[in-house]
Amino acid sequence: MDELTLIVVTKFHPASLVRQLAALGVRDVGENRHQEAQAKSAELAELDLRWHFIGQLQTKKARQAAKYAHAIHSIDRERLVDALRTAEVEAPIEAFVQVNLTDDPSRGGAAPSDLERIAELVLETSTLRLRGVMAVAPLPEEEPAERAFARLRGYSERLRRLDPRADAISAGMTHDFREAIAAGATHLRIGSAITGNRPAHG
Ligand SMILES: *Cc1c(COP(=O)(O)O)cnc(C)c1O
Repeated sequence: MDELTLIVVTKFHPASLVRQLAALGVRDVGENRHQEAQAKSAELAELDLRWHFIGQLQTKKARQAAKYAHAIHSIDRERLVDALRTAEVEAPIEAFVQVNLTDDPSRGGAAPSDLERIAELVLETSTLRLRGVMAVAPLPEEEPAERAFARLRGYSERLRRLDPRADAISAGMTHDFREAIAAGATHLRIGSAITGNRPAHG
């Protein structure tokens, strides 16, 4: 099996929890809201963590997110890539094209038919490094994760035809990481299985 990166999703948890995780050796953390990620990454700047942005990203927040994000897993439209083109980065940000595995456009992620178009734009963008695909499984009652992730693997193969280096698959959360690993996931995004339940949020 290729290398498996475990991203611990710390959204809604305080920076103090991230600090504890870092002390235990965690290096990759995931956040899904820009303001929260910005504040925590600033507070924990000395810890040398890799911040993975995994939530829907507003175009107008993209250049700010680029200041702390090591990776953005939610690249799902051309306008977002355009916004990141002029970001100030020390090293190119790892870019995952998020694909929507459902028919519901509000779920986030590009329609599969847009995958190549977005990826080609990423490849032309020096502030980004195309890394692979990302997806969130549909709800279990909609479709078994196994079947949805098999489709995701097919999208990954399409991406690798554009660029063989873009071989990463970001998939797998607390309830479906087994199916994700079986389908070839390289980046797991695990929250509650590690952190316990998330605090209530408003
Ligand atoms: C919250 C979140 C996760 C982690 O979810 P858990 O079920 O707590 O493991 C993974 N990916 C995304 C995009 C998330 O928003």
